[in-house]
Amino acid sequence: MAVHSHRPPAAAGSVAGRWQLPPWLERIGVRPHTVISLIFLTLIASFVLSLTRYWNNTLEPRLYATAETQAQILAQSQAAALVETIEHGQPERLHRQLYDLMQEILIVKDPATDGRIVLGLSLQIDYDSVPVPRGSLELKDGIADCERCFHTTIPLIGQGGVLLGVADFVLSPRYFEALAGDMRSKLIAESSMALILMVVVWITMLAMFHRLHRAKLAIEASDKAKTRFMANVTHELRTPLNAILGYTQLYKQDEDLMARHGPGVQSIDRSAEHLLLMINDILDFSRMGEALPSLHPKEVALPGFLSTLVEMTEVRARLRGVRLDSRFGATLPAVVQVDDKRLRQVLLNLLGNAVKFTQDGGVVFAVERLGGTDGGTATLRFSVRDSGIGIGPTELDTIFIPFRQLDNAITRAEGSGLGLTISQQLVRLMGSELKVESEPGVGSHFWFDVEVPVLAGPAPAAEAAPVPAQAPEATHDMPLPPAALLEALSDQAQRHNVLAVRKVLAEIERDPAHAAFVEYVQPYVRGYRFRQLGEWLATLRQTSGPPDDR
Ligand code: ADP
Repeated sequence: MAVHSHRPPAAAGSVAGRWQLPPWLERIGVRPHTVISLIFLTLIASFVLSLTRYWNNTLEPRLYATAETQAQILAQSQAAALVETIEHGQPERLHRQLYDLMQEILIVKDPATDGRIVLGLSLQIDYDSVPVPRGSLELKDGIADCERCFHTTIPLIGQGGVLLGVADFVLSPRYFEALAGDMRSKLIAESSMALILMVVVWITMLAMFHRLHRAKLAIEASDKAKTRFMANVTHELRTPLNAILGYTQLYKQDEDLMARHGPGVQSIDRSAEHLLLMINDILDFSRMGEALPSLHPKEVALPGFLSTLVEMTEVRARLRGVRLDSRFGATLPAVVQVDDKRLRQVLLNLLGNAVKFTQDGGVVFAVERLGGTDGGTATLRFSVRDSGIGIGPTELDTIFIPFRQLDNAITRAEGSGLGLTISQQLVRLMGSELKVESEPGVGSHFWFDVEVPVLAGPAPAAEAAPVPAQAPEATHDMPLPPAALLEALSDQAQRHNVLAVRKVLAEIERDPAHAAFVEYVQPYVRGYRFRQLGEWLATLRQTSGPPDDR
């Protein structure tokens, strides 16, 4: 059995509704274009940021290390020439020979950059190993330092591993700069392609959204015009229909007329009722298209409210030969705060559909309390289950769409196809979701849970409460309250008005002589057995003769 929970389709322009932003974003002035632009700007910014990070943390240090190794290899080869000269030069001419060699080293050019490679060179000789006067070969030429230059100290090792001294090289960073420059240009060229691609997609999406937005506005405008037209027409239709219904009610009271034209009057009455029902649905729906209705919660005695619903549905169910069962949880609160008009509208629609689409079997209307009361509220589950024709899995997706009716003989005859759309909007207004599970040929189950403030109740252990059967003999020794109070109690019990019943009982309880009576009646009230209480009070009044006026 498929379970469906539907968000209500946009009352106006359901196509446009699909790409709308959440209402809270629209309320603060955010448009889809802004969101798209923000997404793309974030994408571009994070792309540029990660490229920069990759350059700074990975690529550039790697290039620097490569260039440094290159410089060291070069310095090594120049150092070999220095060792050769120190070892094989004539001691008295060694200064001159070394000086000339240093000049040669300092003018060596890098073919890759066409610039000098060695920018500075200094020698420190170990005079214990080289047979020249101390301090005679302290040669130094070129620059001592520069920004990003490589510094390399190469030991000058002669034959037999003798340390002849050390040479300090200051090497040009131009090779590294050329390498980094090439790499940077390549990276920029490639990433610009990616950036251009992103910007093209961004602009295309903006253009698409712009066109969609214009289409949405056009749909909304035409939808509003249609809705307004519908509202005007249906409003105009309601007035004459009410007149027709008024007259049929009058004619129905005229026995002579009914004897002659009964079936005709009944038919006019039924047709007008049906038209009015549909017109009311359309009016409700068109009003919702303009602005969602607001709820007006008020104090509602739940047992009375529920039994009225059952009574209203029972008449239709009986006419169609459908059995209606009601199952109300024993821990239901007695008085809650709810918009009874809207809740009744939803439940009557669900119950009406359940009866309408059931030809064999029955309908179960159940209300139960879920969980405990936190902060004086209760979550109530309203559920309507039928053993009717059911709805197929693909059709389940469409039943909440306005004017959508499934193809069957019943829908062709009755209904506007708006009931579920309106019900769903109302249930959502109550902060809940109308859910459905159904199977063709087996039946349907519609339900929703609403959290309501509890003003009175719950009735403790209502089911366990001993409910007296109709036992007038139990009252033999029980002093009865004054006739007026007894009558008031009976009236309110018949109306299932729990608040009024409690008020009358409080009045009766003021006289301690009637404590036994109140104690006897309480289980009826706690168990919401108002029908039995009413019947018992009626029997009591008949059997006890004229009530004593104590
Ligand atoms: P309608 O006024 O036609 O009943 P609704 O919006 O109340 O409009 O329902 C839409 C359609 O959903 C109905 O026409 C019917 O095909 C299907 N439907 C609703 N309730 C039931 C149900 N209990 N069992 C089977 N089909 C249902």
